[in-house]
Amino acid sequence: MGPTLAVGALAAFARSRWGVRLQSRRGLERRRRRAIRRLLVERMPRAGHYAHPFDRLADVPVVDKAAVLADFAGFNVLGIDLDTALTAAHAAEHSRDFSGLLPGGITVGLSSGTSGRPGVFLVDEAERLRWAGTVLGRLLDRRSLVQLVQPWRPPLRIAFCLRANSTLYESVGSRRLDFRFVDLVAPFDEVLAGVATARPDVLVAPSSVLDALARAAARGELAIAPRLVVAVAEVLDPATAVRVEGAWGVRPRRVYQATEGLLGLDCARGRLHLNESVVVFEPESLDAEHRRFTPIVTDLERRTQLVVRYRLDDVLRAAADDARCPCGDPSRVIEAVEGRADEVVEAVGADGGVVRIFPDTVRRAMALADVTDWAIRWSSGGRLDIALARATDAREVAAAEAAVRRSLGELFDAVGARHPELRFEAWTPPRPGDKVVRIRRAEAPAPPVAAAPAAAAPTEEVARG
Ligand SMILES: [Zn+2]
Repeated sequence: MGPTLAVGALAAFARSRWGVRLQSRRGLERRRRRAIRRLLVERMPRAGHYAHPFDRLADVPVVDKAAVLADFAGFNVLGIDLDTALTAAHAAEHSRDFSGLLPGGITVGLSSGTSGRPGVFLVDEAERLRWAGTVLGRLLDRRSLVQLVQPWRPPLRIAFCLRANSTLYESVGSRRLDFRFVDLVAPFDEVLAGVATARPDVLVAPSSVLDALARAAARGELAIAPRLVVAVAEVLDPATAVRVEGAWGVRPRRVYQATEGLLGLDCARGRLHLNESVVVFEPESLDAEHRRFTPIVTDLERRTQLVVRYRLDDVLRAAADDARCPCGDPSRVIEAVEGRADEVVEAVGADGGVVRIFPDTVRRAMALADVTDWAIRWSSGGRLDIALARATDAREVAAAEAAVRRSLGELFDAVGARHPELRFEAWTPPRPGDKVVRIRRAEAPAPPVAAAPAAAAPTEEVARG
């Protein structure tokens, strides 16, 4: 890691550790206005897609994944085309060697979208370091921080359980930080062994993997004592949060991120703040109360591939009260990331119109039916294909299906939708390391429906109905 890069990471660390609490909402807005100006005047003209300059952010056309893929070279300042990026990404997936993908230390990220083609993103080393600096600066507990700055103490051990490696982790590694990467594309035994060997102070993993690790710890198969547990990449299941706290005595902290950027982080009070000092969020409202929205994001620090007024596929739920969080961070708080836009079930209303049913309410209905491993494919005609983990006993299968039917019936009644046509099928575990998708639209060209827990769930769990 070069000195300039290290300074960038340290600056991000310090800013995210102490900076956010010192500033007012007005100060935040002022800083953002300056950053938007720089983006419009200095960076955007370097990308072919934005050949002519814009005066205001609001004048820039909103783009989505399809638009970016259609003119890929135009959205990055290096003019790297989609074929080159994809070839590099696939080569790395096969070799499991993610170092030095493209000249200049550029890494290719693929977003695991639930429908259509994956999104493709380019980031350089400085951008990756800034990510690590921000995450660690915001989330590390005091004791870990003290350990980090005392050179005579052992380095802070951080285990990342992720689907793909990135040069990020090696480049951030230093005498004070010991990064261990645990590849999730492996049998769960190996994942377990990898985490056990790493003996992490900080454990970072997707929710479904944290769940499987916490279960293993509860069975006495994993002896680690992390002081900080970070949930990334998937919506954190409430049951998983409880299980993690039971296993290690700490509440998992959420990092809301996508290949599109670092979008939000839990504060010490357990509230999820949007990363507004770096990302501008324009909400596209989905309901009459303006609580649920799809964000259009602008990343103020991206330099390699520009993310300007990019419509994400996520559904966010704003906090009910607008009061500033007691932690002092003036950034907006969201109650939950409810999932991706195609997780919103479109049902048929009593009047024949469309009724939107949000993923959190569907998840709660399934929890009330007492089913653990499940997945739903919905079709716009009002049909739900429901995959349930099959019990061996036929009566138990029938009972589980009846419970789901009853619970979903109550939900559909409550939101004023006609009861859906339900079809049940056996649940198939996802491939290890695959993102858990509970709810998705049926029409999308996607692999067969699958549900949690990922990374090779123990078989006795799969057998639960
Ligand atoms: Zn807070």
